[in-house]
Amino acid sequence: TRFHDLGLPLELMHGIADLGFEYCSPIQAQSLPLTLNGHDMVGKAQTGTGKTAAFLLSTIDDLMKNPIEGERYAGEARALIIAPTRELVIQIADDAKLLTKYTDLKVHTLVGGMDYGKQQRHLQEDLVDILVATPGRLLDFCGNQDVYLDQVEVLIIDEADRMLDMGFIPQVKRIIRQTPKKTHRQTLLFSATFTDDVLTLADQWTEDPKRIEI
Ligand code: AMP
Repeated sequence: TRFHDLGLPLELMHGIADLGFEYCSPIQAQSLPLTLNGHDMVGKAQTGTGKTAAFLLSTIDDLMKNPIEGERYAGEARALIIAPTRELVIQIADDAKLLTKYTDLKVHTLVGGMDYGKQQRHLQEDLVDILVATPGRLLDFCGNQDVYLDQVEVLIIDEADRMLDMGFIPQVKRIIRQTPKKTHRQTLLFSATFTDDVLTLADQWTEDPKRIEI
């Protein structure tokens, strides 16, 4: 599958061309026709398969094709991507910034171990279209009402198995409770393995998902 055949917005195609992508990787070819149509998805994919671009492309397409008409408030995120580590969050956000370069969408990151005030100021200066975060720092921002998740349209949970291993699931549950209910958002969950625990969480968090295994 070529990216040209997916009906993506022109500004997004320019970002893809900058990254040098021409053909979809297998996970992209399998997931994008489903996620671009709004389906929830549970994907089994390792790092290196192109899963990051798979969920970013569908997210960016959705946000671009459904612009918000009314007033928007500081700190209200439209898309939320949760990942277990700082490194992963930064890598996802870097890809998101490259892919959205020719669009009006704003990407923000919240990670622990870095200056809270600086992240807070960035958020206040700008609208938040795509928020990429680790669970603990995100909950701090929610608790302080520096971030609001009640308008989230797209929720991505990356590396769900590592979230489990690292003991983050209680935090992730508290985060997801602050987003719209699952019938009112699109949810994509990725995991390198499909253990019973991962599939139980996937069942709780997604609505009638398509399942993909790479
Ligand atoms: P990921 O699995 O998301 O960590 O991506 C692995 C690497 O593959 C990253 O360096 C991406 O930039 C690259 N990549 C993702 N999708 C494509 C594609 N369709 N064509 C070429 N490279 C890609």
